[in-house]
Amino acid sequence: MIPRSNLHTHSTFCDGKNTPEEMVQAAISLGMDSLGFSGHAELPFEDCDSWCMVGDRLRDYRKTVLSLKKKYADCIEVALGIEQDYFSPALSDSYDYVIGSVHYVCPHGYAMATDINPEVFCRELTEYYGGDALRLAKDYFELVANVVKKTNCDIVGHFDLLTKFNESCAYLDEDSSAYQTLALEALDAVLEDNPLIELNTGAMARGRRKVPYPAPFLCKRIAEKKGRMIFNADAHMAEKLLYGFEDAIEYARFCGARELWYYKDGIFQADLIV
Ligand SMILES: [Zn+2]
Ligand SMILES: [Zn+2]
Repeated sequence: MIPRSNLHTHSTFCDGKNTPEEMVQAAISLGMDSLGFSGHAELPFEDCDSWCMVGDRLRDYRKTVLSLKKKYADCIEVALGIEQDYFSPALSDSYDYVIGSVHYVCPHGYAMATDINPEVFCRELTEYYGGDALRLAKDYFELVANVVKKTNCDIVGHFDLLTKFNESCAYLDEDSSAYQTLALEALDAVLEDNPLIELNTGAMARGRRKVPYPAPFLCKRIAEKKGRMIFNADAHMAEKLLYGFEDAIEYARFCGARELWYYKDGIFQADLIV
């Protein structure tokens, strides 16, 4: 069973390449049951207004997705979501669901992006953390541990995003017990809030990672603790809407997952992995 649903979708209203309608049409041609939009919410940092939804752009995003929901209701279930960053201001409108994500750490008050550009990331890792990725991981996972409470999210986005460039740049020993302890402590804290946790194939689609977020030791812990996993593509273009889902099923099985969650008829439901 491969989920025909994706709730992590970016469009031209934030940093995606296609309009929402192009995304909906692509989802229909792929035979998808549901498609949720999760544009980037506002962030209080410099340079974020170009890829986050503020003011009129947020208003138009909501209007557009809600009209597509009606227009294509006979073909596909469209949902209006948003991707709240840990540092985004509280939402003032209602959404079908919220993805809560940590994209930034703030060493000495500076907003350092963990996922935009490997060269800048590595330079800032040296500048702000003396190259010590474990210190960065400590800051990052302190935020992740509280992301559900802070953003009031339904779904936790890309749990270990800080490893995005690690396969090519090797700044962090992900097998070390020091790193895994930090990540697992944050995961245990998150699991107490019982959100859905993404198996996110976005970095695979960009050729950055071979497996989805989160890493195997984290997925195994989610499975052991009967946490709720949901597949998401973090798609920024129409052709990536279900990217890597076949591999992700194998991955979920390998990690011991017995069921997957998906969105149908306006609620989250579970299906056994067979
Ligand atoms: Zn994100
Ligand atoms: Zn995203």
